[in-house]
Amino acid sequence: MTDFIPRIAVVGRPNVGKSTLFNRLAGKPLAIVDDRPGVTRDRREAVGRLGDMDLRLIDTAGYDDEKKEGLEAEMRAQTEIAIKDADICLLLIDARAGIMPLDQTFAEVMRKAGKPVILLANKAEGRAGQSGLLDAYSLGLGEPVAISAAHGEGMSELYQALIDAIGQQPQKSSKARPDSPPLRIAVIGRPNAGKSTLINCLIGEQRLITGPEAGITRDAIAVDWLWDGRRVRLHDTAGLRKKGKVSDRLERMSVADTLRAIKFSEVVLLLMDASHPLEKQDLQLADMAFSEGRAVAVAISKFDLVPDREAYLKEVREEFDRLLPQMSGAPLLPISALKNKGLDKIMPTLSILHRNWDAKVKTRDLNDWLHEMIERHPPPAVNGRRIKPRYLTQTKSRPPTFVLMCSRAADLPDSYKRYLINGLRTAFDLPGVPIRLIVKAGK
Ligand code: GDP
Ligand code: GDP
Repeated sequence: MTDFIPRIAVVGRPNVGKSTLFNRLAGKPLAIVDDRPGVTRDRREAVGRLGDMDLRLIDTAGYDDEKKEGLEAEMRAQTEIAIKDADICLLLIDARAGIMPLDQTFAEVMRKAGKPVILLANKAEGRAGQSGLLDAYSLGLGEPVAISAAHGEGMSELYQALIDAIGQQPQKSSKARPDSPPLRIAVIGRPNAGKSTLINCLIGEQRLITGPEAGITRDAIAVDWLWDGRRVRLHDTAGLRKKGKVSDRLERMSVADTLRAIKFSEVVLLLMDASHPLEKQDLQLADMAFSEGRAVAVAISKFDLVPDREAYLKEVREEFDRLLPQMSGAPLLPISALKNKGLDKIMPTLSILHRNWDAKVKTRDLNDWLHEMIERHPPPAVNGRRIKPRYLTQTKSRPPTFVLMCSRAADLPDSYKRYLINGLRTAFDLPGVPIRLIVKAGK
């Protein structure tokens, strides 16, 4: 964590959920820490936190009388003050109500202000939020982030958007302003897999930007360091915590901790103990990270304890691909933190994984590829009629998500989807990267 704390203005028309979001980020009922009378009568500020990120929040929710004369002018004035003070603005819309003329007004104010804006489609929980989410594109402020301030959904997406926005900040001071968002890594594994030993080795050799710091919750621990000139943020579940009594070691693995670390990471390094790899919990952890859409590499720790290394690795590779077919080909790195072996492979591997996770494949390449795949192995006929995949496009990255337009989409068998997903992974070199494929009906 750097000492740069972004100032975030929460803006939008009445009732979109600004106060609700403000209170969620502030983590407590509204704290008025800055209440200068007169100039900023209605502006409230609080210190907030999202994951490991400290925030200064500027609220503008002072105008609750919607019918009042001159309301629009007042809102504009307040919003402009808030925006002026902010590094980043969160513009909220109500995804259930759709876009209103006042939302357009706010969007225009935002565009004129020229500050980084994150468009938030709030109240997006459940199905009712979907229509407004699409409308939100019409504001011309880029891709909306779907959240539910009331239910706490979409917070890791908001976190990511903030990280991206901070990365785009102009360099105001030379001090502690990140050049680019950090590569976020989580190291996970069963107790005793060797996480803390590894982490200490990894960061021990690096220049620490800040030391480990405990967050609001006792488990939110992150450390920043530089690798090859690049900022890396390591989220850890237990490895950075000071080891206390021996009995602490026997503590059960906290699934909640692990899940939190996964959610705030982009790339996950799963440690498996070479003495007993691929146990049920290892598989569960791998699956958890992959299901959350994170790229995953596996490190086989304590490799110094393995006698016949080549045979061992071959066997683990085969078993891994058999037990976790969706992750087949994911990087497997033999390491020994104790003997300082194999550690130099970790960061380059994670960096490549991250790049692939973040990448977009050109639509033309995809469709050339799709035609080959169909020719090689056409989808089966259902009730005597052929299913025709028409068009494939990548709609987003992080993780790569593809939409296949297909006649009789509902009939496309899962086995064929797997065929395409596995094909995508091989053709576009995405092992270890989760791939989402959405099949839609379309001519
Ligand atoms: P503000 O006027 O923009 O500050 O909006 P508020 O935070 O006061 O919220 C307006 C209304 O929307 C309240 O009734 C909230 O409970 C409700 N609300 C806020 N966030 C959500 C959400 O994520 N989902 C739903 N369904 N309602 C929400
Ligand atoms: P954590 O619970 O996942 O953080 O695991 P620790 O890092 O505390 O390691 C558990 C045990 O494995 C400790 O006794 C370490 O000394 C041992 N250990 C860690 N890395 C290695 C290694 O590379 N080789 C060997 N032989 N032992 C290791």
